[in-house]
Amino acid sequence: MKRILPGSILSFNQYGHLKIPKAVKCECPECGKTTAFILKSNYQANKIGLFSQGNCPFCKVTSSFVIMLKENHTGTNEAADVFIYDQRQPLHQIEKQPDIPGDLIRSYRSALKVHQSNDPLATAVMSKRVLESVLKNFLGEDTNGLPLADRFKQLPSHIDLSKPISSLSHLIDRDSTLQQMLDLEHDLDDEMAELLMDLLNGLIEYLYVLPAKLEMTHGRIEEKL
Ligand SMILES: [Zn+2]
Repeated sequence: MKRILPGSILSFNQYGHLKIPKAVKCECPECGKTTAFILKSNYQANKIGLFSQGNCPFCKVTSSFVIMLKENHTGTNEAADVFIYDQRQPLHQIEKQPDIPGDLIRSYRSALKVHQSNDPLATAVMSKRVLESVLKNFLGEDTNGLPLADRFKQLPSHIDLSKPISSLSHLIDRDSTLQQMLDLEHDLDDEMAELLMDLLNGLIEYLYVLPAKLEMTHGRIEEKL
């Protein structure tokens, strides 16, 4: 997820005191061209903010946008923060990780490819293969004979979803250097400031953006069924 800087927000919709970005200029995650996206006004709202979508005028592919409303809204026309969800990222990121099984990377890459070539049947076949690969990766081969839904139910008990969060606690122990940096009692350089931002971006994505995005997709699939 990439933040779109305030200077790249081209226009707004005004709702009472709220200014919601309407057109933004950014790099299309799909084709890489920098262009203007018009955000659709059928926002999906939840407690963090709004979700919207916009099409790239070049490749026509739809990208997702997250608009985070500011909590302490003072009514002073302060604009909300807007982020673009980079759909390419998961593939790029897992490709670099040595512990991700090769069959998962291959099936996920194929799923993206057949989807890009507008082949819904092949997309269904490859999506099933990706789900199977993920389940096999966490549950092992033993459960292969079980229906997909049963294996999915078992998935959370095979993943420690709290570990990425709980392992952060020692970093911000009371006497840690990081804690001192946060309290301005210890200097930090540009690289550390960058790492801090990476930490915030990761946390926000993990805690708010991804769960909300999954929930939204879940809802849209149910509506469609
Ligand atoms: Zn594009």
